Amino acid sequence: MTRLFDNPATFAEDALDGFVAAHREHVARVDGGVVRATEMNPGQVAVVIGGGSGHYPAFSGLVGPGLAAGSACGNMFASPAAGQIYRVARAAENGGGVLLSYGNYAGDVLHFGQAQDRLRSEGVDVRTVLVTDDIASAPVEQITKRRGIAGDLTVFKIAGAAAEAGHDLDGVEALALRANDRTRTLGVAFAGCTLPGADAPLFTVPEGKMSLGLGIHGEPGIRDLPLPSATELATLLVESLLAERPEGADNRVVVLVNGLGTVKYDELFLLFGRIEAQLVEAGLEVLAPECGELVTSLDMAGVSLTLFWVDDELAELWTAPADTPAFRRGNLAPRARRTVIDRAENTRAAETASAASALLAGSAVEAVEIIRATIELHEEDLGRLDAIAGDGDHGIGMRRGVEAAAAASRANPGAGVREVLRAAGEAWAEKAGGTSGALWGAAVVATGESLANREDYAAADAGAAVTAFAEAITTLGKADPGDKTMVDALLPYRNAFLAALETGATPAEAALAAAEAAEAAAEATSLLVPLRGRARPLAEKSMGHPDPGAVSFARIARALATHWSAH
Ligand code: ADP
Ligand code: MG
Repeated sequence: MTRLFDNPATFAEDALDGFVAAHREHVARVDGGVVRATEMNPGQVAVVIGGGSGHYPAFSGLVGPGLAAGSACGNMFASPAAGQIYRVARAAENGGGVLLSYGNYAGDVLHFGQAQDRLRSEGVDVRTVLVTDDIASAPVEQITKRRGIAGDLTVFKIAGAAAEAGHDLDGVEALALRANDRTRTLGVAFAGCTLPGADAPLFTVPEGKMSLGLGIHGEPGIRDLPLPSATELATLLVESLLAERPEGADNRVVVLVNGLGTVKYDELFLLFGRIEAQLVEAGLEVLAPECGELVTSLDMAGVSLTLFWVDDELAELWTAPADTPAFRRGNLAPRARRTVIDRAENTRAAETASAASALLAGSAVEAVEIIRATIELHEEDLGRLDAIAGDGDHGIGMRRGVEAAAAASRANPGAGVREVLRAAGEAWAEKAGGTSGALWGAAVVATGESLANREDYAAADAGAAVTAFAEAITTLGKADPGDKTMVDALLPYRNAFLAALETGATPAEAALAAAEAAEAAAEATSLLVPLRGRARPLAEKSMGHPDPGAVSFARIARALATHWSAH
């Protein structure tokens, strides 16, 4: 839904005014839309694009050197009126004639057509190139009936670059037509979009389904399919488009993966990776792709794939410089591609473990496994606890970290305890993310450093290892007791452990006493106000609930103590 507006009736105009204010370097407001804020070359063809609002960066975001000369901007999802288009074209016209280009929709065809008539009657040479890339909107035999969606960008870019390169109107028109002939798009929607001020979306997609062949005006798709995985979706889109390879096309394609509004960039990139792999597999060469929001539909959840089969001339125009609010291509002198990119090397030499250290390493691998199983068991609880005043990721973060740690600890059989714990700790910190991951990772590494690679071990070494574990966390995290962090369970654990050793307890007995202390202390963090970490700004919410990091620490302490007592 659209949350921010004053008057839904003037939403599009108000947004356009703000857009121009934000991009005054590029665009100037005219009655009906926007034109370039900078001079064009004398006699240059003016490429005038346009359509309804709600599709940003189409259409106003594509005005500037190397792309459009002006854009007529209609109401939300509604064609601009003929008068608007006429005025924008008049303001953009520069002595070289006008190319009107826009998506093929009845309303737009009507209004742009009227504007074209009027301009021609006044002696301006005007041509029209309709964008018809959407393969879902009509069969290939009726290609001219297809509507225009994300393929707008390739056609506009080619036309704009051709005009910038000095082609006359015949040339610009011919190139734009060729670009349209070679552009195919197919899209899917996962959820509809809602007009400003409306209380229901224009269409809905049933739960767990995806709608194939969406439009960009909230038109639902042609067919509902079960929600696929990213790879399955990539296959569907790639196969459908490759089945429509234009006549005379070679193997070079520009690929556009377009987000319609609420599909996030991470998802788009993931999808792009799958698509690119499948295209390469199919023998295609991918040229200067784009992945992001190119032609949107308000807050629609959807994606589309566009393939644009290029030849040498189209490739050059596609990659030519452009400078618009939403689409920029630099023109720096070409530089050689980097061939060696990964420069970090593992310079650590493997050490030969003493027998005692190798034995202890086996116990360390077991201990990490116990921690892993404990976290797996409590992952959801820990996540819920972290969600009360944090970001809800403590369970999943700990799990990612400890799974990596467990795998790394097993990766080097025969290694000593120092190496095993170093590998485990480094993997933990690297994979867990989050504050707790960095702290646990450092603490596990420090424990290994403390135990080192000795000929034999005594009970005091266990005390030193626990001390090192705790010190790593307080040194790195800098939390004080009472800040409501894992430190509030950790320090009582360490103190109880050392105290038990003093009275002659074995390390396993000390671990039991320490686990008890950690559990009580973790419980008691309910009463504390968080002073560090993510929970700090949500102090009030956190009251009455224990700290997630303290709780996970206590759970782990208990599981390890139980394990050690039994062995
Ligand atoms: P993030 O806070 O980055 O989302 P997690 O959710 O995995 O990381 O971990 C949160 C836990 O980390 C907290 O409950 C707290 O126990 C611990 N923590 C946060 N900051 C510190 C710190 N400076 N020192 C010790 N522990 C900390
Ligand atoms: Mg968190």
